[in-house]
Amino acid sequence: MRTNQLVSLSVVLGLIAVAFGLLGNGATSKVGAPDVAGPSHAPTDWPRGDKIVDLTHAFDEQTIPWPTEIGFRLERGFDGVTDGGWYYRANRFSMAEHSGTHLDAPNHFSKDGESADDVPLARLIGPAVVIDVTAQCAQDADFQIPTEVFQTWEREHGRSLADMIVVLNTGWARFWPDKERYLGTAETGKPAVAKLHFPGLAPDAAAWLAANRKIRAVGIDTASIDAGQNKTFGTHVVLCGHGIPAFENLTNLDQLPAAGFTLIALPMKIRTGSGGPLRAVAVLPDVATAK
Ligand SMILES: [Zn+2]
Repeated sequence: MRTNQLVSLSVVLGLIAVAFGLLGNGATSKVGAPDVAGPSHAPTDWPRGDKIVDLTHAFDEQTIPWPTEIGFRLERGFDGVTDGGWYYRANRFSMAEHSGTHLDAPNHFSKDGESADDVPLARLIGPAVVIDVTAQCAQDADFQIPTEVFQTWEREHGRSLADMIVVLNTGWARFWPDKERYLGTAETGKPAVAKLHFPGLAPDAAAWLAANRKIRAVGIDTASIDAGQNKTFGTHVVLCGHGIPAFENLTNLDQLPAAGFTLIALPMKIRTGSGGPLRAVAVLPDVATAK
């Protein structure tokens, strides 16, 4: 086991310990002193003083689906005061697995790949880095990130991408939820797929990352890890073939440092699913208290 695997394992164990600690406090306050102060951590201030950045687009009627898929639909259920006198509200929703911020499980493009419920948690929670390609993508909406970008990043930052969750910041999240600008076309159906324009990861770079760096996962702020103009989904095929999941339609990547944070991307645990809605967050160490 490599050192960084040990570190990431300790991060996961730490999160579990914190979770149990919080449960423990709740149990204590029930039997003993009431918790008059309420939760000791604000939602954006956990654990310790760490900052949490939400990388997820909210699911609503503006959620952008793949051109051939359905978006997100919230069906309003009961909303009001019941006969019993208490207030009650409950809705239903429907969506495609690959609409909005979502997971691509390896079985999305690999027949025997892991399904959404089967992706190892260590691929969904782990140390992450951000590769900033906003400048290249602003020049070229069809930019496919080549291997050299990753090799340059490693040189400039003096660290390896091995075992990392590699997050690609193309700057495309700024177009959400404008379909025309985000996807390159607002049209739907099969013919629309040929009209897609957005940046992505080049298939040979995906192959290099998978073979030489054994990365945990890839995240991107576009609708697909393959650029819109690709014809063969080569990056999906390569990554899924290596058991590497992808997180698509991420946002707020400009709020992240280049390295030194933890990404948590937990999908709905759909049995045999090819992906699913994702709540992705980044946990940034508190720079004031970090050693
Ligand atoms: Zn997908």
